[in-house]
Amino acid sequence: MKAKVIIPFGPPNTGKGTRISEVIQQWGDKYESLSVSNMLRVEVKNQTDLGKEAKSYMEEGTLVPDQLIIAMFLKRIQHSQKNLFFDGFPRTVGQAKAMLEAGIIPNIVILLKVDEEVMLQRARDRLVCPACGESYTKTSSFKRPKAEGICDKCGAELQRRKDDADEEVVKKRLKVYDEETRPVLEFLESAGVNICTIDNSSDDAGEKFKELIQS
Ligand code: AMP
Repeated sequence: MKAKVIIPFGPPNTGKGTRISEVIQQWGDKYESLSVSNMLRVEVKNQTDLGKEAKSYMEEGTLVPDQLIIAMFLKRIQHSQKNLFFDGFPRTVGQAKAMLEAGIIPNIVILLKVDEEVMLQRARDRLVCPACGESYTKTSSFKRPKAEGICDKCGAELQRRKDDADEEVVKKRLKVYDEETRPVLEFLESAGVNICTIDNSSDDAGEKFKELIQS
């Protein structure tokens, strides 16, 4: 069977990463996630040329230029065999065009919707593992680490993301989504890509997400 490409889509802090990690926890043999921001964080940590260039964009909540992202991301896809989640790609119409031109046609785009206040609250509450990139919540009952402040997977000390800690940056990321990322939906829809929407605050959102990726 041909591997699928699935794109969870939506503004920052709508819970895309959480939905993906639930699926991988259950079906890790069949699904894999390619996360642009995790790739970028590795580049920043290793102080590569790309990392040095990307760092300031990431800290101020703006998008890293297309040519850097497209080259980095498309190179990684060729090595994958499993069904793929694209986490954080494409985020501009230019990236979406490059994806289609490379012959990658997503099977489904799943737009995750939540209210803006919920997104802001999630940014206040999110903790991430600097070693493996897994995210957790600090106070909500959902996805708390087993030991406070420690990653379940690798035991590293959890941190807040810099771009979550400054509310101005969080708002900037929402604005960037509206201006540069939202138009990707219309572009992909006009190219014939299947787009579905889920209310990601609803209790059954996780189940609906799993149904859609298997449809
Ligand atoms: P995220 O963790 O998905 O919110 O991404 C964190 C930051 O990484 C963003 O604010 C951007 O600076 C950068 N980034 C992630 N994905 C992309 C992308 N597809 N294009 C450009 N920049 C990106």
